[in-house]
Amino acid sequence: MRTPVAIVGGGPAGSAIAINLAKRGISSVIIERDTHPRFHIGESLTGESGELLRELGVEEDLAALNPPVKHGIRVYGPSARHEFWVPIRRRDEDGLHDSTSWQVRRSTFDRFLFDRATALGATVVQGRAVRPIVDDAGTVRGVRVALTAGGTVDVHSDVLVDASGQKTFLANLGFTGRKETGGYARQMAVYSHFTGAVRDGEQWGNTLTFFRQKYHWCWFIPLDEETTSIGFVVPTSYFQERGESPVEFMRRELREFNTELARRVADVEMVEDVHVTANYSYTVDRFCGPGWVCLGDAHRFIDPLFSYGVNITLAEARRLAEDVQRLLADGAAEPDRPFREFEEWSNRGAAVAQMMLDGFWETTFAFGLLVRTHNDGIVDLFSGRLWMDDNPAVAELEAALTRRRTSEAPAAAVATG
Ligand code: FAD
Repeated sequence: MRTPVAIVGGGPAGSAIAINLAKRGISSVIIERDTHPRFHIGESLTGESGELLRELGVEEDLAALNPPVKHGIRVYGPSARHEFWVPIRRRDEDGLHDSTSWQVRRSTFDRFLFDRATALGATVVQGRAVRPIVDDAGTVRGVRVALTAGGTVDVHSDVLVDASGQKTFLANLGFTGRKETGGYARQMAVYSHFTGAVRDGEQWGNTLTFFRQKYHWCWFIPLDEETTSIGFVVPTSYFQERGESPVEFMRRELREFNTELARRVADVEMVEDVHVTANYSYTVDRFCGPGWVCLGDAHRFIDPLFSYGVNITLAEARRLAEDVQRLLADGAAEPDRPFREFEEWSNRGAAVAQMMLDGFWETTFAFGLLVRTHNDGIVDLFSGRLWMDDNPAVAELEAALTRRRTSEAPAAAVATG
């Protein structure tokens, strides 16, 4: 089997690049080991995720699935003075405008994007990519797949895109540089779905985030009129010290974590298994080479606090499709590192995302000030515009972080905002 572009993984990254390529007249093969629909975490879409989906031309069909409309995010800290609201706003040449995004059940959303990719011509190979096919010069020429139905098939390609998510297919096989964990590695998420949670009136689809102390927070994401996704992100040591089962842990945190949360979940019923995900934060160094490139979670995932996962994935898919098209037409200017510009561009966005996270936890006072003074730059960052050249909020957060890190003062668990 031969294709210009073989894609390992049919999650948002794999489907979105297949759609972007199809719009450029480039066909692809998606190799997916699971069968859609399947459970996946990552349910809140930023403003930019919404914009990128609109740009893909799927807004009308996605809206027909009735996902909750998200107008913004409300953050509740340990006391009322830590509470703030950030609306979703889109930006054009005239400035910022009110906008909305969606909350999605990933089983439905991932199948929706996957079906769109196949409707536009992507071929699906149902199976597990087992190893890349490499020629004598070390160039990747495709991938071998263990088919779900039995047997194997070789998919020969000009470009192999690894969109395997947290499975990090190529990184695990040693094709990339090092896969490193960072400051957010020793955390875990415990989550489930509930009916009966108290939401806000008309704008019931918004994300609520509760935090108590550094690295200890909770998401509250409406998934439909009845169901709400609730998850706790905690230091792994905190979970281990409790010695509770995930279900016991979840039930106790719901009661004790935050009074505002407790009010909203007093009468909930758990309608999904309790899932636990640990060690989900990592960065892969050097994630392209001759004939291959990594996309989305296949090369990085830091932390879900700002819901940047799908946002980054969709933005990367758009950008990478452009670079793939150029490479297929003109060849690689730098054959050993054909997607170096994509890599550098992606790293710039990731650095801004990392800075937002560090700013939230380490400079809570400066962060709170930016939000409370309705700083447009912070609205851009919450909406997921990570690649703006001249966002003053980035400079302010960077300066606050530098001050914080060079100061001798001990960290306050949560400073006032
Ligand atoms: P995935 O969605 O994981 O897709 C990868 C696909 O590749 C899968 O379908 C898998 O079956 C397939 N695959 C893997 N290996 C192989 C193989 N060898 N052969 C064939 N197929 C293979 N993001 C948000 O935007 N909003 C949120 O609210 C949010 N919350 C999160 C909460 C938690 C606790 C975590 C851990 C993440 C969260 N994320 C969130 C991040 C989001 O889930 C990911 O960023 C997003 O799913 C990445 O998409 P992807 O396509 O790169 O990977």
